[in-house]
Amino acid sequence: MKVLVTGGSGFVGSHLCEALLLRGDSVWCLDNFCTGEPENTAHLSADPRFRLLRADVTSALDIPGPVDVVAHLASPASPPDYHRLPLETLSAGGRGTENALRLAQRRGARFVLASTSEVYGDPETHPQPESYWGNVNPVGPRSVYDEAKRYAEAMAMAYRRSLGVDVGIVRIFNTYGPRMRPYDGRVVSTFVREALAGSPLTVYGDGSQTRSFCYVDDLVRGITAMIDHPGLSGPVNLGNPAERTVRELADLVLAITGSRSGIEYRPLPVDDPTRRRPVITRAREQLGWEPLVPVDDGLRRTADWFIAHSSSPWRGPGT
Ligand code: NAD
Ligand code: UDP
Repeated sequence: MKVLVTGGSGFVGSHLCEALLLRGDSVWCLDNFCTGEPENTAHLSADPRFRLLRADVTSALDIPGPVDVVAHLASPASPPDYHRLPLETLSAGGRGTENALRLAQRRGARFVLASTSEVYGDPETHPQPESYWGNVNPVGPRSVYDEAKRYAEAMAMAYRRSLGVDVGIVRIFNTYGPRMRPYDGRVVSTFVREALAGSPLTVYGDGSQTRSFCYVDDLVRGITAMIDHPGLSGPVNLGNPAERTVRELADLVLAITGSRSGIEYRPLPVDDPTRRRPVITRAREQLGWEPLVPVDDGLRRTADWFIAHSSSPWRGPGT
């Protein structure tokens, strides 16, 4: 198959490109590097089935030849990134999604949208099944991301209903692993970086808010399963139902890295969701998918990657 991966040089996208090449697909990776890193896919450039296109998905979009699948991942994704790039985030979800859908329509390709658990906002239903419609503040600082993804889902479903595009939506819950940017501001990358540096772990609020952390290899298996299920529109939750408080995560990172760092409490960001755990019955039944990597294993692999790359020039905070 020939697969176009938008946002393919980002954290998740680069693992997806790698997995697709490994199983024999051809991959066109499109990225504007607003939050992604060229190094994430540099090791793939020698493969003749891999093509990198430096482009913005919100501009006119085309690639030569037939396309079997468009996997649309391009969007800033960490809260500091989408706060820094609010208009770009809305555009990636809006115009970017429409451009990617149009390309899929022209080529008769399957279209897979990387949506997010953020469509559930600060959920009043716990854990979250796909049937829950969410509790999003449409004018809060997170809305540029949450509402862009909700709009992207609505547009994908409209292209399916009106134009027959073979659309599949996955709602991704917090995912972590190698190639997270150490200063992307997400909790796992931040805690691992801080623990390895011996600095205090910055816990927002009292750390009682929960998240459910999925290792990136598990997520990528889920996305490829969605690619491989033509006709299945979803949405399908992809995440690890093992739920932890942020404070528990801090303790786990300290234990795994053997760090003697302390904890420093900072104010909780506005509209920070209080809890998050996916119901994954649909993924189990319709995709035959479930996460396999326990969080302590995944965190160890992540910390190992951070250690191995500690001499690389890391992009600083807010860049
Ligand atoms: P990331 O920031 O590492 O990757 C996003 C990639 O998209 C980057 O390489 C960036 O440069 C690129 N990009 C952004 N806007 C673009 C544009 N206009 N044109 C071309 N490229 C553009 O983030 P990630 O964690 O890898 O997230 C990938 C996708 O998965 C995103 O759509 C995100 O919303 C979704 N997602 C991720 C998580 C997670 O926990 N990692 C959770 C939910 C959803
Ligand atoms: N968080 C934290 N310290 C940090 C970064 C994040 O305590 O340095 C908290 C954040 O407030 C949230 C949780 O960890 O409650 C997950 O944050 P992240 O940005 O990784 O993901 P999201 O909020 O998008 O789920």
